[in-house]
Amino acid sequence: MLAEPVTKNPFTSYRRDSLGPYCEPVTVAEAHSGVLAGLQVLIVEDDRAIGSQLVKGLARAGCEPTAVATAAEALQRSGAGLILLDLGLPDMDGVDLCRRLRSRGTAPIIVITARGAEPDRVDALDAGADDYLVKPFGFAELLARMRAVLRRTGPDSGATTYGALRVDPAARRVWVAGRPVALTGKEFDILACLAIEPGRVVTREEIFDRVWDEHWYGPRKVLDVHVAALRRKLGHPEIIETVYGRGFRLGEVIEDPSHR
Ligand code: CA
Repeated sequence: MLAEPVTKNPFTSYRRDSLGPYCEPVTVAEAHSGVLAGLQVLIVEDDRAIGSQLVKGLARAGCEPTAVATAAEALQRSGAGLILLDLGLPDMDGVDLCRRLRSRGTAPIIVITARGAEPDRVDALDAGADDYLVKPFGFAELLARMRAVLRRTGPDSGATTYGALRVDPAARRVWVAGRPVALTGKEFDILACLAIEPGRVVTREEIFDRVWDEHWYGPRKVLDVHVAALRRKLGHPEIIETVYGRGFRLGEVIEDPSHR
């Protein structure tokens, strides 16, 4: 006698007309491991039927999804680890919303839309979207694209998050409470040096060894000049603590992005 298949398709009870065939099973193992587990997903979709389908499907995949139906609601939310964005919204053009969401944070944005023409895709990608999916699409492809953007942008890329500070050495980018901060090369190198092991005191000698050429014999005061500039640009002087007589360490600063 043949055994019953263990995995039942969780999507067969869903409507098939709006998002395409939900015929791919999500296994229990998939749902409770990997990068999607516990991921906070913000769904911005004015079609409430599609929004609730996505909420159910993503919850089954192990995510913690929330759906909003307007751009205004989307802009009030913070803390999402990934955003699914419909372009046709009642109160703002989705491309403009994409640009605003991107300027406020680093969470990957995947556009999900019926607008599949090339100029629409180009506009959305130029506005900061990380990927673009045209309806109707399959749920397994959505999950695969979510995993792919998280691999490219997530903590596995080697970025360090410490309180409100995020330092991505590969991309040489820095954010404070989701806001990108532009730094000079030396400023970035000093900060990256402190971010290797957040909270540990890094001596002035260590910083000179890593950031300056070993044959550099200029004034040591130059480090303090760069640190002062860094503190000013980061907007929180306490992110870089001075440990007198030894060096510097990262201070953990918590800033609630909703209070900016
Ligand atoms: Ca819409």
